[in-house]
Amino acid sequence: MSRTFAARTHVGQARRVNQDRVEADPDGRYFMVADGMGGHAGGEQASSLATTVAREYLEAHFEEEWDTKTFLQNAMKAVNRRLREDQRAHPERSNMGTTLTVVIRRENQWWYAHVGDSRAYRWRDGHIEQLTPDHTWIADQMRAGTIAEDTNLKQWLGHVLSQHMGQETLERIEIAPISVQEEDRLLLCSDGLTAELSDEEIATYLTRKYTCEEAVNALISAANANSGSDNIAIIVIDNH
Ligand code: CA
Repeated sequence: MSRTFAARTHVGQARRVNQDRVEADPDGRYFMVADGMGGHAGGEQASSLATTVAREYLEAHFEEEWDTKTFLQNAMKAVNRRLREDQRAHPERSNMGTTLTVVIRRENQWWYAHVGDSRAYRWRDGHIEQLTPDHTWIADQMRAGTIAEDTNLKQWLGHVLSQHMGQETLERIEIAPISVQEEDRLLLCSDGLTAELSDEEIATYLTRKYTCEEAVNALISAANANSGSDNIAIIVIDNH
């Protein structure tokens, strides 16, 4: 029987430690990807603490009367508070941080909440569209128009984050509704996938002839077959 979503991480071919985390509600209400950073212990701690706190928060408050934007804002702030507390209690990981991309389905509407450079995409009719803005220095400059899209700075600075969970102040917690049609799929992933495969390549693995689980496994294999130079986190969700 095909499931309506699948979630998996893989350490990749080059790293010894997997600092990526995925979390999926068995009931299909929420999904998340986190990509930790900040040294050996810090990165793992940051991404697993972020997904744990986010899951607990969403579970505890899913049925509250809050509007969804407030609900997601509160969840992201709760995660950031816990990361800051953990940094203060453990100075050896004071520089830890993580990306966090959360997608939820609440009252029949999909939403994302996002900080960092992990991504949510919508697959439709053979193409994917990136929904979440990257919080990287390069992407910020391109949005501001100060550097061009085809800059070769990408090679050197592509992974420098302008914002991540665990910072003292979060300037922008991106929260928005996602418009979804019946046959669409959603993809959440860390940069271990998007650094290896182009959007066009990724889209070919999301065609509905594959189950969510087959798509996740095929994407992980493809990323590893390229260079697998980073940890890989992937969630594929069917909208029905
Ligand atoms: Ca990564």
